[in-house]
Amino acid sequence: AKAAGRNAFCLFSPALQEVIDTRSSLEAALRHGLNRAEFQLYYQPQFSLDHGLIGAEALLRWSPGQHPSVSPAVFIPVAEESGLILRLGQWVMHSACEQLVRWAQQPLTRDLKIAINVSARQFHRPDFAARVRSALEATGANPSRLQLELTESVVLEKVGEVVERMQQIRQLGVTFSLDDFGTGFSSLSYLKQLPLDQIKIDQSFVHDLMSSGNDAAIVRAIVAIGRSLGLQVIAEGVETQDQLVYLTSMDCRVFQGYLLGRPVPMRDWQSAWHNWQQP
Ligand code: C2E
Ligand code: CA
Ligand code: CA
Ligand code: CA
Repeated sequence: AKAAGRNAFCLFSPALQEVIDTRSSLEAALRHGLNRAEFQLYYQPQFSLDHGLIGAEALLRWSPGQHPSVSPAVFIPVAEESGLILRLGQWVMHSACEQLVRWAQQPLTRDLKIAINVSARQFHRPDFAARVRSALEATGANPSRLQLELTESVVLEKVGEVVERMQQIRQLGVTFSLDDFGTGFSSLSYLKQLPLDQIKIDQSFVHDLMSSGNDAAIVRAIVAIGRSLGLQVIAEGVETQDQLVYLTSMDCRVFQGYLLGRPVPMRDWQSAWHNWQQP
C-alpha cells in the first residue's frame, strides 16, 4: 500500500477486484489484457552530467478496462509465475524497439537509448538471444540504443551460462545494466565476471542517503567499484536536490528519478521534456 501511495497507483480497487473475481484470477485478467492491448509503456528519462538527456527506462503499465493502472509490483510477479511474462516481455521488447526507430528519425532523439527490464524467466529461455535479435531485425532498431536491465535474480545461478548468453547478445551491440544493485547477496563475486556496461544503484540506498550514514557509505562504495570496473554507474529514485548534489559529490554522474522526470507515456514525452530539470 505504501508503494501504491507513492506511485499514485491503485493496488486493488473494488472495481478491479470485481474484474479479477469475474475472471477468476489476476492471471486470467492479465491474459485477457494482453489480448485486448491494455498494456502500455511509460518512459522515464535518464540524464548524465556530461551529456544531458541520454535515454529512458521503459516501464510497463496495465490499465484493465476502465480501471486505473495497476502497479507492476502487483502484476509482474503473477505474470512471472504464470509464464505470461514471456509474451509480455516480448511485447515490451518490440514496443521499445519500435520507439527507438521513431526516435532515430529525429535529430534531437536519435542518440537516445531505451532500457527495458528483463525478467529471469525471460532471460533463461533458450531462445532469448534469438528473440532479441529478431526484435531488432523486425523493427530495424539500432542495437546499440537498446539496453537490457537484469536483476541479480537473473544471474544468481549458472554464471557461466549467463555470461555466455550476455556475450552473445552484446555481440549484436546491445548493452547491459545490473538493476537494483546492492540489494542482493553475492554481488561482488560475480560482478567482475559479468559483461556489464552499467550498474544501477538501488533506489532504497538513494532514498535514505541523507539520513543514513550507512547508506551513504554503501553508495560511495558502489560508485567506486563501478568506476574501477569501468562501468557506468546510475542512481535511480533521485527525488531531491540534496540527493542529487550528494550523489554528484560522490562522483556519480548519471541519474534517474522523480526530481528529474517521472515516467510518462510517449504521447506526453514532448511536453514533459520542457519541465525536466537537467542536472
Ligand atoms: P525497477 O526496474 O526498479 O523500476 C524503477 C521503479 O521506480 C519504477 O516503478 C519507477 O516508476 C519508480 N521510480 C522512478 N523514479 C522514482 C523516484 O524518484 N522515486 C520513487 N519512489 N520511485 C521511482 P514501477 O514503474 O512501479 O515498476 C516497478 C517494478 O516493476 C520495476 O522496478 C521492475 O522491476 C518491474 N517492471 C516494470 N516494467 C517492467 C517490464 O516491462 N518487465 C519486467 N520484467 N519488469 C518490469
Ligand atoms: Ca529497472
Ligand atoms: Ca531498479
Ligand atoms: Ca526494483
